[in-house]
Amino acid sequence: MQVEIISIGDELLIGQTINTNASWMGQELSRRGAFVSRVVTISDKTDAIRSAIDEGLNNADVVLVTGGLGPTKDDVTKKVITDYFEDELYIHEETLERVKGFFARMNRPMLEVNVQQAAVPKKCTVLKNMQGTAPGMWLEKNSKILISLPGVPYEMKGIMEQEVFPRLEHLFGLKQFYAKTANLQGVGESYIADKMAVWEDNLRSNGLELAYLPSPGLVRLRITSLNGQSDEALIDACFRELEEAYPENLYGYGDASLAEITGNLLKQYGATVATAESCTGGALAASLVSVPGSSAYFHGGFLTYTNELKHTILGVQQEHFTTVGAVSEEVVREMAAGGKNKLNVDYCVSISGIAGPDGGTEEKPVGTVWIGIASPKRVVAKRFLFSDNRERVINRTVLSALNFLRN
Ligand code: ATP
Ligand code: MG
Repeated sequence: MQVEIISIGDELLIGQTINTNASWMGQELSRRGAFVSRVVTISDKTDAIRSAIDEGLNNADVVLVTGGLGPTKDDVTKKVITDYFEDELYIHEETLERVKGFFARMNRPMLEVNVQQAAVPKKCTVLKNMQGTAPGMWLEKNSKILISLPGVPYEMKGIMEQEVFPRLEHLFGLKQFYAKTANLQGVGESYIADKMAVWEDNLRSNGLELAYLPSPGLVRLRITSLNGQSDEALIDACFRELEEAYPENLYGYGDASLAEITGNLLKQYGATVATAESCTGGALAASLVSVPGSSAYFHGGFLTYTNELKHTILGVQQEHFTTVGAVSEEVVREMAAGGKNKLNVDYCVSISGIAGPDGGTEEKPVGTVWIGIASPKRVVAKRFLFSDNRERVINRTVLSALNFLRN
């Protein structure tokens, strides 16, 4: 099954909105074995929409269109599609009832333009939109299929999952492939690729696909099996070798985040944790708290940005600031120990670094970060050097601190 995705909207072209719809659809479709041959982004203009649809239906079996279904003037997709299929609009009663119900629940008056949300081409199969007002539309011509969906991402996803995938699975025998993802922190994609090199031919000849999904500080490595779960043993063997090569970096499999995995470990051991942060401004605490149930292990934290607060609140010795500086092993050790004592927890993670863009020196360039951990037995500290972009330094520091704590 070959698919073309057409994303409609001026906001996509000018970079105001990121085209997450196309990437989500591409991922979900290819996971099910469909071949996405083209993604086209076009403006809300009649001619552009018409010719993209025409080309799409010539090239592919299925054309998926998002955007431009709303009640505003700039949304013309529905009209273009109706004309293209030489059809006319009518009010779909069931949809009208749903739209009415929607406005009644929101306690808002319904306008004539909202009634038009329930208008669809006569030949179409209406795809229920349980999250919004504009329904999706399914049209067929010469055994080709055109599917038009609203642009709002969660509405589009809801209709895809409830209405579109079941139909496509039935018509084209699409299936869900078996996939397993290993997640690694603090090791570059190229080092992982180097380790995986010996596996690549083996995997490929068995119909398995390897994909690297890197983001700052993390690499997710996905192996997809075209044969289904029967390949599980081979995938596991491959990941086991990766685990042996990078035992401190491979933190888990599947969708769980590093904060979740570290939090679960703390919970499992009945341990409590606190934070003492400087350059991350509370981002580590925020990351820990983002996990539901974190109150079981996270007690609280200190945000000591100035040297004075590091001294008065955490008890860091003043002289360190002049001898070794705030970004140093001595300081993060005392921050961690001080935080642990004050809050009476099992672990305290401390962070002091230079997030930039200013403040770097030759000896301590921007991106230099010290992370300390006070544990029941000892205090440990480690130096890191990250890239020189402030946001990335902060993100990578948080991930490194979580992984340091996990280990
Ligand atoms: P509505 O009924 O809300 O008007 P619509 O089908 O007319 O829906 P648009 O007006 O095109 O959709 O877009 C609605 C919202 O969805 C906008 O905020 C837009 O930025 C966002 N959106 C549209 N297309 C995409 C896309 N391809 N990826 C991510 N977001 C999108
Ligand atoms: Mg639009």
